[in-house]
Amino acid sequence: MQHHDVAIIGGGIAGLSLAHFLAPHRSVVVLEREAANGYHSTGRSAAEFTLRDNAPAVNALARISHAFMAEPPEGFAAVPLLTARGSLWIGPAGREDAVERARLAAEADGVAVVALTVEDAVRRVPFLDPGHVAAAYFDPDYWDIDVDQLLQGYARTARRAGAELIAGAELLRARHDGRRWSIETSAGTFSATVLVDAAGGWADTVASLCGVAPAGIVPHRRTAITVDLPAEIDAGALPEVNEIDETYYFKPDAGRLLVSPADETLCEASDAQPEELDIAYAVHYLEEATTLKVSRIASSWAGLRSFSADRLPVIGPAADNPAFFWLAGQGGYGILTSPAIGALAAALITGTALPEAFEANAVDPALFSPRRFRR
Ligand SMILES: Cc1cc2nc3c(=O)[nH]c(=O)nc-3n(C[C@H](O)[C@H](O)[C@H](O)COP(=O)(O)OP(=O)(O)OC[C@H]3O[C@@H](n4cnc5c(N)ncnc54)[C@H](O)[C@@H]3O)c2cc1C
Repeated sequence: MQHHDVAIIGGGIAGLSLAHFLAPHRSVVVLEREAANGYHSTGRSAAEFTLRDNAPAVNALARISHAFMAEPPEGFAAVPLLTARGSLWIGPAGREDAVERARLAAEADGVAVVALTVEDAVRRVPFLDPGHVAAAYFDPDYWDIDVDQLLQGYARTARRAGAELIAGAELLRARHDGRRWSIETSAGTFSATVLVDAAGGWADTVASLCGVAPAGIVPHRRTAITVDLPAEIDAGALPEVNEIDETYYFKPDAGRLLVSPADETLCEASDAQPEELDIAYAVHYLEEATTLKVSRIASSWAGLRSFSADRLPVIGPAADNPAFFWLAGQGGYGILTSPAIGALAAALITGTALPEAFEANAVDPALFSPRRFRR
């Protein structure tokens, strides 16, 4: 049985970003249950990069990650990982104050936001319904992420540095003898000094298979659909559109429009499927805010966004077994924060100093420690 310094359970963006940062320094194996990496949450996201829509500690991770994605390491990706998109924030009658408050807050953050009349907003998104939208502003600080390139970049560079990525390897049970892990999987038994739980919605399940107390990571289902746009609309030129109370959002996606009702339904970890009602909500919100009539849904899907009790990620050694490392609870921001979270986890595992950007952005890793739930 080959021994590795680190075995990572889960080949989503969390597991592979860690493998990218760790493989130059430690022997690493990534064990993924499915036949392909990124099959669950990672392959089902809206691929949005925002610097501002999350808790301050997460926004700091986003700022660190933006630098990586804007200028990835040499040979990491064949195309840019970020494409400028911008976001149009809109509100219906009665929510004008909320739109204005959000605009002023972004401006106070130093963002070059643009106050818009309803006519300006319709010029940017020609199918917006001026009878529904009462206030709007444009925030340039939103990007599309090329998630596939990012995931493949992590995988390729990790392999190049010696990491083994094994698909079809479901963790069945792991035992720690005080020195090393013996990890039973559907693809054989592996040995490792540190076991990393990067199992997304299954993070607590994996912990219990390893005899470690759960961290309280709870999956929530979110739905997205895509619909066709009228032929005269240049989808690539559209901004993302966010409703001010985050009831729904829509954005271009490969020539179509991706619409999400921003649902957040508590569920079991599973191969999440969209529910008819959530699809109907997506169509309803889109038709209410625009002049579009949806006659056909081109595609629909659902995925898991998994949260800890305080909605911050859980990164660090388990309180009850320091050889078990949590890398979970990235909720709705796991793609955009993956460079910072991967680098942070690698530094904690190797016991090396954090990159300077963490201090510059006042990131305190203790905020993410699993020990915070034990106090
Ligand atoms: C609709 C939707 C929109 C989103 N939009 C965005 C967005 O715009 N921007 C953003 O940054 N984030 C977004 N997210 C969130 C983002 O997708 C997640 O935070 C991120 O993908 C989590 O990555 P992960 O690697 O932790 O989980 P996953 O990608 O789910 O990976 C976990 C892996 O662990 C594997 N696994 C589980 N159990 C075992 C086991 N026993 N043995 C071996 N392997 C196991 C699973 O098969 C899976 O591949 C969105 C999510 C959804 C659902």
